[in-house]
Amino acid sequence: MKNSLGGKGANLAEMSRLGLPVPAGFTITTECCNAYFALGGQFPEGLKKQVMTALAEVERLMGRKYGDAENPLLVSCRSGARQSMPGMMDTVLNIGLSTTTIPGLIAKTNNERFVWDSYRRLIMMYADVVMEKAEGIEPYDGKGIRRILDEMLDQYKYIKDCKADTDLTAEDLKTLAHAFKRRIKEVLGTEFPDDPMQQLWGGIGAVFKSWVGKKAVSYRRIEGIPENWGTAVNVQTMVFGNMGDSSATGVAFTRNPATGQNLFFGEWLLNAQGEDVVAGIRTPSPLNNATKTDQNRDMKSMEDMMPATYKELDAIRLRLEKHYRDMQDIEFTVEEGKLYMLQCRTGKRGGKAAVTMALDMLDDGLINETDAVLRVNPNQVMEFLLPIIEPKLEAKSQWLLKGLPAGPGSACGEIVFTSADVVRATRMGKKVILVREETNPEDVEGMRDAVGVLTARGGMTSHAALVARGWGKSCIVGASEMQVDAPNKTLKVGDKTLREGALITMNGSAGTVYEGALRLVEPTAGEDYAEFLRFMSIVDKLRTMGVRANADTAVDARKARSFGAEGIGLFRMEHMFYGEGSAKPLFLLRKMILCITVADRVAVLKELFPYMKNDIKGTMEAMDEFPVTIRLLDPPLHEFLPHSQLGRLELSKALGIAEDEVRKRVDALQENNPMMGHRGVRLSVTYPEMTEYQARAIFESAAELIRDGKKVIPEIMVPITCDVRELRHTKEIVERVYAEVVRRFDLKKLKYKLGTMIEIPRAALLADQMAADAEFFSFGTNDLTQLTFGFSRDDIGSFMSAYLDQRILAADPFQTIDQSGVGALIEMATLKGRAVRPDLKVGICGEQGGDPASVEFCYKTGLTYVSCSAFRVPVARVAAAQAAIKAAKQ
Ligand code: ADP
Ligand code: MG
Ligand code: MG
Repeated sequence: MKNSLGGKGANLAEMSRLGLPVPAGFTITTECCNAYFALGGQFPEGLKKQVMTALAEVERLMGRKYGDAENPLLVSCRSGARQSMPGMMDTVLNIGLSTTTIPGLIAKTNNERFVWDSYRRLIMMYADVVMEKAEGIEPYDGKGIRRILDEMLDQYKYIKDCKADTDLTAEDLKTLAHAFKRRIKEVLGTEFPDDPMQQLWGGIGAVFKSWVGKKAVSYRRIEGIPENWGTAVNVQTMVFGNMGDSSATGVAFTRNPATGQNLFFGEWLLNAQGEDVVAGIRTPSPLNNATKTDQNRDMKSMEDMMPATYKELDAIRLRLEKHYRDMQDIEFTVEEGKLYMLQCRTGKRGGKAAVTMALDMLDDGLINETDAVLRVNPNQVMEFLLPIIEPKLEAKSQWLLKGLPAGPGSACGEIVFTSADVVRATRMGKKVILVREETNPEDVEGMRDAVGVLTARGGMTSHAALVARGWGKSCIVGASEMQVDAPNKTLKVGDKTLREGALITMNGSAGTVYEGALRLVEPTAGEDYAEFLRFMSIVDKLRTMGVRANADTAVDARKARSFGAEGIGLFRMEHMFYGEGSAKPLFLLRKMILCITVADRVAVLKELFPYMKNDIKGTMEAMDEFPVTIRLLDPPLHEFLPHSQLGRLELSKALGIAEDEVRKRVDALQENNPMMGHRGVRLSVTYPEMTEYQARAIFESAAELIRDGKKVIPEIMVPITCDVRELRHTKEIVERVYAEVVRRFDLKKLKYKLGTMIEIPRAALLADQMAADAEFFSFGTNDLTQLTFGFSRDDIGSFMSAYLDQRILAADPFQTIDQSGVGALIEMATLKGRAVRPDLKVGICGEQGGDPASVEFCYKTGLTYVSCSAFRVPVARVAAAQAAIKAAKQ
């Protein structure tokens, strides 16, 4: 039903079926939206007639008539896709008000102020959504009609000395409405339509068009929502929250979406229409007393102001949770004391809240363990691993600002004031926090890239808060003591001014902001972490595929284990040549590269030997009984050549040869295409002594650990092979060294495995031959993707975004496995390999090993394990469990 009616339409129908008070209306399907676009923006045949028939039925149910002078019906046109896209598409309210219907509605309601307030709202929304955005008009100077009208409203309020919209009188609103219409004509060149029918069709078309609006397109890109889903249009009878002090509107969650706490949680506004809450225009009041915060302690709750209606709403809350067996996000309006439900959908929640709710609902018997595991998006468990501000330091520090804790975790970064600045600064490798006056869906790109989001206005249910939570982004909204001056790029708190680039630290779970950079630490202590561990134990019960980590040091290996890794899937021999402490080994490697005779090379290898052993031994020790896959030296030698004159001088001294000779040897080693050059197993073929010393480092480390009573399982992995004879060549060396070490240490048993990476399509094609000598395969999906596509991974920057924009590729294959192409090779190689060696272990160790969709693919293909960076291990565990659950359900 959702596919056709959209989430909003389907749930409105469902609530209505449950007997809940839903204003009458009808839904135009998403198929109709697609037909509209297929016709180049024309309403498909038959739509007019169907809409008229449905409208007549609504008129009959409501006892009012659309466009009628005496008893007019007003409607809203609301967007709604299959999957909720909060605030990314458009909705128009109060449609049907015109010079003919206004007097009738005034006479009927005896509430002139309300009618003019509704009219000025219609004009503002309609001009923005239908007359500007849907027409594709790019506002002059970036200042849209909505902002122009908003400024007129503000100015008018200033002249009249009104604080709130609600202080404006009927006469004021009438004057404003006329001024708005004149201004619209001036700016957009067209008359605001006075014909109710024209308004209705304008509204329907604009909602369709909002599917291809800028923000909707960006949001879909980020969330991976298909272009061809389309939006439905819900045409629904208006009910009015702006009829005076017995009317109100609000948004609520059946449980707290940020913490998961089982308390009804929401926000409401007296005498207002719904858009005021969701757009973050006014900071709303709390729904009930139990969920008040320091910020809104003094505001009046609905529980106190409208006790009977609140009770009714609370009962609906429980009814909906029982029915949907999940937390719901609801929108409601009270018209002169009568409650109406306007929306319900499964609520977006943060990772922490998702886990808390899943466990609570499991304990309450509402759902079972498999449901509980499926309730949490794998990426969301990362939130439990997010840094927190060092607790002692935070306790000592005085906060600068406080707001509502809308998104979890802590963040530290430089402040910037526009979405574009975030994108720019992030590209330069900076960590930035986006500071805005109010939350605005236009900011999606910036919100995505920023480490945190901070706003002065808006509530916990504002669209930006929803989006931030969905992404596990640190977010604080409604920090009202702060004054944001975006044009001048400053923020003021009291007499303190912070400029663009100033450092702040924010705690999104508490809503506090500190000046400067506070130290962030790991979150392992505390209640949240215990809950995480309980959830993960359920995950592991339902998981069948293994999860390993990529790690090169004892420290990383210990971290990986604490995150649940059951082995190391990739230890890179070359890591000792990069980063901290790499100066000496790198120098030795360069020296070795420039040696001409085997004897000279061996002499250097002996010097390098202790460095090789050091981290291998530490890592194997940390992993104890778990296997450690050690990949022999892989990168092209070209990468290590000395380029500076100083480097060459040093080498010429060390080798006792002239600098000129050094330069000649370096030049001889230059490569045009190093990634496809002298690297991986090819080094073993040309310099067998290098393999010999690496094998010795591995076996000696293992032998020493065994002698100390440890259990170790080394797995030697040969990189970038394309033919079984390469593998055999390396295997002979390894076996020779093995015999030597076992003899020297007088060991009875040292178990090890020898296997290969599958990174070159030829190796995948000949996997049956490879498996004759390999005891395991590990798909190196970075190189395999590179070589299957013929895309150089280091050079995709210049074309990948065009490929994604033009939908030539649905996703970046370096982030998520290209299942149809690269995936076909993986599948075939696994089948061929296992046909020869049924107990062949098969894993993956590329970047994609921590991507949930790739993990699911690996499960379906029958892989033994996935290996990913330590931080993504919990994500992979959840994804693997979900894959197993989904497979069992089918
Ligand atoms: P969004 O998808 O942006 O939330 P909605 O279609 O839900 O857009 O509309 C926004 C708000 O407008 C709703 O939360 C609701 O309060 C208000 N609204 C929509 N339709 C009606 C209606 N028929 N009567 C009263 N208020 C409405
Ligand atoms: Mg909308
Ligand atoms: Mg809504």
